[in-house]
Amino acid sequence: MRQFKALLAIVAGVLSAQAWAADYTGPLFDAHLHYNVEAWDGKTGPHPPADVLARLQASGVRAIVANSRPNAGSLALAALPQMRDAGIAVVPFVRLYRNRADYSSWFRDETIYDMVLAELARGTGSGPYRGIGEFHLYDSANADGPVAQKLMALAEQRNLVVLAHVDDVAIDLLMAHTPSKGQKVRLIWAHTGIGGAPVERVDALMARYPGLVGELSYRPGLVCDDNQLCPAWRALLLKYPTRFVVGSDTWVNQRWQHYESLMQGYRTWLGGLPADVARKIAWDNGAGLFGMPSRP
Ligand SMILES: [Zn+2]
Repeated sequence: MRQFKALLAIVAGVLSAQAWAADYTGPLFDAHLHYNVEAWDGKTGPHPPADVLARLQASGVRAIVANSRPNAGSLALAALPQMRDAGIAVVPFVRLYRNRADYSSWFRDETIYDMVLAELARGTGSGPYRGIGEFHLYDSANADGPVAQKLMALAEQRNLVVLAHVDDVAIDLLMAHTPSKGQKVRLIWAHTGIGGAPVERVDALMARYPGLVGELSYRPGLVCDDNQLCPAWRALLLKYPTRFVVGSDTWVNQRWQHYESLMQGYRTWLGGLPADVARKIAWDNGAGLFGMPSRP
């Protein structure tokens, strides 16, 4: 009986440790942030740079991948001295969209390729652009469009990270367009397949492409009722602890309005992981993509 009681105490302890896991409190790398024209047009808007900065600081975010439609928004954040003063790194990406119409034609539009080259040549207030995207492919066959092919090759040649909102079929197609056939290019997979590619399929793609990184906003099936990771995703993140990042995806202003609670949601489930894994997904993996220090 004494042994049984001791066993019960251990089981209860394990259960309560799981239920009461403390939130992750370290730095966050927001690897999927937009600063689109609706948020601020350079003069007016609900979320001027001071508002963005305040929300990042309140959320413990110490680095952001910044991209925007048009690129003026990212350039504004990259040039902001207050961002540097606050110790927040801005990692600028070239977005492929001048306007909404470009979403559905960029992959075959040579003027988009020219725009990307011009942006890369110009650079930003916080140094050279470090990546290309976010771009979307609503029909995965468009991954074979001539401009999509050229941009994937360019990304590998110039060591630019790609941020792509595409399905699992398009991942294979895009990877095939790089000189290394997907063995060298680094690609942040926005939402890790928003269409809900099964965990087994994500696992297979992670194994096939060493530079594939899963970003976890809007990922169906990720978080369960207790605001902790669902078992299959917990297992996948533990299998590939260096291959996942978190992001806000502030694609509409509503996401800015709830920025702090979005990031708090990440802190909650990160807290349920082993501390070293939480730290990797929250910060180290994003920082490592861009050669940044593991202690911000
Ligand atoms: Zn996005």
